[in-house]
Amino acid sequence: MSDNKYNSWINPSLLKLNPYQPGKPISELHRETGIEEEHILKLASNENPLGMSPKAIKALSHIELLDLHRYPDGAAFDLKQKLANRLGVLPNQLILGNGSDEVLRFYAQTFVKPDEEILISQYAFQTFLIIAHMVSAIPVIVPATDWHHDVEAFIKHVGPKTRLMFLANPNNPTGTWFTHNALVYLLESLPENVLVVLDEAYYDYIDDPEYPRAIQLQQRFPNLLITRTFSKIYGLAGLRVGFGITHTDLNGLIQRTRLPFNVSIPAQKAALAALDDFDFVEQSLIVNEQGRKQLEQGLMELGYHFISRAGNFITAEFPDDAMKYYQKLLQQGIIVRPLANMGMPNHLRITIGRADENNRILNALSEL
Ligand SMILES: *Cc1c(COP(=O)(O)O)cnc(C)c1O
Repeated sequence: MSDNKYNSWINPSLLKLNPYQPGKPISELHRETGIEEEHILKLASNENPLGMSPKAIKALSHIELLDLHRYPDGAAFDLKQKLANRLGVLPNQLILGNGSDEVLRFYAQTFVKPDEEILISQYAFQTFLIIAHMVSAIPVIVPATDWHHDVEAFIKHVGPKTRLMFLANPNNPTGTWFTHNALVYLLESLPENVLVVLDEAYYDYIDDPEYPRAIQLQQRFPNLLITRTFSKIYGLAGLRVGFGITHTDLNGLIQRTRLPFNVSIPAQKAALAALDDFDFVEQSLIVNEQGRKQLEQGLMELGYHFISRAGNFITAEFPDDAMKYYQKLLQQGIIVRPLANMGMPNHLRITIGRADENNRILNALSEL
């Protein structure tokens, strides 16, 4: 952070915060290299390579533009009702966010007081650290084991000041995940007033009987808070809509941190329609599974290792500084995500694309 006389005016926690580094936007690479935007391939932000749910697009096209002078339904009655039915919960177990990252912030803001500790795994989703600083908490980094969140290590790091822990399952950028039994073990080992925030952004991509059935655990463990999103499998990243699932008794407390109109009319309408787009979800899963096999196979043939096993991305390991490979891919109009700022200088995270897109990046890599 550069020296600025106004630094002393702000909450000192914010000076420790390194702003989120998003995947390089297509328009930026166009400005830098002159490569036409339609020739740029962005596999950097885990966006759905099939685009947005067609049902959501149709719903958006039916929005009466002249009604957009009205505020959205702040309570998001219809969307909550539909989600509740789908998930087998009550509407008052749900909280909607402007993306699930906003819900992660609601959770921390509600429960964490300044100078209390938030546990975050090494190699965890960047947003967790940012939120910890935003709420003036002390982030405690829990060492990972073989790239995985280490549940045992989380338990060992709990102290009198620990108020909350963030766990992404699967984690981004490692793609690693932990089982239902591991989650139960963690919850059984914690004091009841330590919150476990489970970020399930890639929930829809996992079909494994060992994956946590987290909602079922919330009656027994009210300290378990869940987030999910419409950004990934439904393809609504640009509209910003995600949600949290909590025990009913905690929901009203968390709602105090939500400003009244945080999810727009288009976001609510698109999400509502996307929930009915079973074909699109199924197609997205098929493309993702085929793409994973294609990329894994291709990377193996090129002699590269990878750690990801779940989600819609692969985290590839390079023999030396991955920034070099990142730059060379950029010159060919391909954007992936470097991970050096997360302590992973030899890795790049690649979003799984359509077959032609995966081919293009594998070809580019083979020429390096
Ligand atoms: C993509 C992602 C999210 C989703 O964020 P939104 O704000 O819902 O777009 C959340 N957590 C993780 C780990 C992610 O990778």
